[in-house]
Amino acid sequence: MNATALADLSADHLATLLEEQRAAYAELKARGLKLDLTRGKPSAQQLDLADDLLRLPSSTKDAAGVDVRNYGGLEGVRELREMFADLLWVEPDQVVAGGNSSLTMMRDCLFYLMLFGAVDSERPWGREEKVRFVCPVPGYDRHFTLLESLGIEMVTVAMHDDGPDVDAVAALVADDASIKGIWIVPTYANPTGAVVSQDVAARLAAMPTAAADFKILWDNAYALHHLTEDEAKSADILTLASAAGHPHRPIMFASTSKITYAGAGVAFLAASTANVAWYLGHLANGAIGPDKVNHLRHAEFFGSAQGVREHMAKHREIIAPKFAEVDRVLTDRLGGRDVATWNRPTGGYFVNLDVVPGTASRVVALAKEAGVALTPAGSSYPYKHDPDDTNIRLAPTMPPLTEVTEAMEAVATCVLLAALEKAAGQAST
Ligand code: PMP
Repeated sequence: MNATALADLSADHLATLLEEQRAAYAELKARGLKLDLTRGKPSAQQLDLADDLLRLPSSTKDAAGVDVRNYGGLEGVRELREMFADLLWVEPDQVVAGGNSSLTMMRDCLFYLMLFGAVDSERPWGREEKVRFVCPVPGYDRHFTLLESLGIEMVTVAMHDDGPDVDAVAALVADDASIKGIWIVPTYANPTGAVVSQDVAARLAAMPTAAADFKILWDNAYALHHLTEDEAKSADILTLASAAGHPHRPIMFASTSKITYAGAGVAFLAASTANVAWYLGHLANGAIGPDKVNHLRHAEFFGSAQGVREHMAKHREIIAPKFAEVDRVLTDRLGGRDVATWNRPTGGYFVNLDVVPGTASRVVALAKEAGVALTPAGSSYPYKHDPDDTNIRLAPTMPPLTEVTEAMEAVATCVLLAALEKAAGQAST
């Protein structure tokens, strides 16, 4: 639909449209909806795809003959590490298979960095006067709350379609030694869907940093989560960093949370062999071995790296129509009005919706009152502060398709109503 932009409407026309949307909103509220687009969770239908896991493993021994029921093997079962090394374009010796959460591995790394320092640190980060991190925005809320919990200050840079604004990053890190790292979600970023290009990755890997122990926390949570046949390939950050003389700069994370079971998958860490030894050395003080039964179960379930890719194609069939529906409703309802922009992600779990600046909180509040839960406005920014109050993260994977449609119709009404309220307010002042 090509409707007229609000800015081009007369005051009378705006007033009529506002009344129409108020009526539409009242109707919406009366329907007593109970819908949720808050978190990027797999749907039950996606989880069902992995239910053969419940009947595995068929053996108690891994390929090397080790009894997986017993203690030991802190780095994880070899055949699963080999499989994911292949998928993440790293060497098996650079991969650790851990517990069910990559976020926990990230937290552990940050704890170790704060308490003990990195392999290339002069002292623990916690003994520095100040530790700061570069955070591309919008970004993953839990990355930011984790840093906040440790008192690590956050400095934002813009996230572009090819990754973070790398000029801004390079300028920040060049002469401020308190800046110790950066978060990167390289493939189908949460929430913008951006894919870090080879060029941006190469610059991040090679840029001079005032801190000798600068770290790139490369969270490849969506490496294999394609929504189209045009499958993005993540940049090979470990090789790029090694070639640039900074082999210990990147630490990569991934997991099967959105491949098998979100609550019972396997998480991975990949890094230089020195970083892997550093991580395992600290981990060993609090763990004797991971859940190798789950590792073996996953290795048997997939069979090979190709098996993982084929499994992800089944996920795509389930969730791609939901993303298409988000786009269809937004286009139908808001196209041409100049009240919102949004992305059409080619992978990952989110749609990034930017509404009229100053109205995102209002949209989320309106939606909540109408029974549609959205991620709180500002969540994708450090300290939950979106300076423009414009960004809303939509997560359409969990509800069934019919509910995605209903929820998005409601969101569109709220976006339009909030924009009209603002336009009317401005017209009357
Ligand atoms: N990283 C990103 C970017 C995510 O979006 C998520 C899940 N929302 C995670 C990590 C969490 O991963 P895990 O389940 O492996 O802890």
